[in-house]
Amino acid sequence: MKITNHKLLSESVSEIIVSDSTNNVGGVIDPQFIIIHFTAGQSAESSVEWFKNPSAKASAHLVIGRDGKIIQLVDFNKMAWHAGKSKWADFNGFNNFSIGIELDNPGRLTKVGDRYLSWFKAEYSKDNVVEMPHKHEKGNSYWYEYTKEQIDACMKVCKLIMEKYHIQDILGHDDIAPYRKDDPGPLFPMESFRSKLLGREDNTADIYEVIADAVNIRKGPSTKFGSYGQLNQATKVEFIKSSMGWFLVYVLDKPQQNDDTLYGWINGSLLKKL
Ligand SMILES: [Zn+2]
Repeated sequence: MKITNHKLLSESVSEIIVSDSTNNVGGVIDPQFIIIHFTAGQSAESSVEWFKNPSAKASAHLVIGRDGKIIQLVDFNKMAWHAGKSKWADFNGFNNFSIGIELDNPGRLTKVGDRYLSWFKAEYSKDNVVEMPHKHEKGNSYWYEYTKEQIDACMKVCKLIMEKYHIQDILGHDDIAPYRKDDPGPLFPMESFRSKLLGREDNTADIYEVIADAVNIRKGPSTKFGSYGQLNQATKVEFIKSSMGWFLVYVLDKPQQNDDTLYGWINGSLLKKL
């Protein structure tokens, strides 16, 4: 498998299907991020059909089926509409500079009696359902496992993309649109992908805790900058970068006062590393 002219090519027809979409495709981009999603759909084929439908107003560069087959809809240097309203660190609007990969998966399931149902009312075997919390939530939910073939294909294609483009990071849709989006969810091995693809040795993000109440999270690294809102003691945040004693952080717990307070600057003296 290789990338030529922003398309995946393979000798093996069982590996890749090209299904060029002319709908839901934007202009030329220079990809800097890979964003992982789940389709929340019934099958890879049905998701592909949906992404090619103009009324979807959504698309992705790749869809990966449960058998590991990769379907390419959009060339890697063209904009696909997968991220929506999104921000992370200093970046906004990820459709403009990211490659979107969708894994066929029904998404969060609901338990009804002893059955596990998707939002479209299909039933899933409990052998492949895992009960655990989403990283942005406290309570448990039910998630459907990805297949090994899917994860292997995703890793393989991410490696190729990293070789071809100047990719800074690989993130989940739930990292760049937290609370609005929950994909790819807790069963996607994001830490392992990031450590393998980005060469990061530590498998854990730098997590800090706020050590006082009513701590301002500011628009810049000084008290001169306005506040987005306040965080309570014990709120957990993920470190992104620091500047002169101030930390740019991403808030992991949903703040109570202001739903939009997702990341900003906090004075380092008000944080404790966990
Ligand atoms: Zn998504």
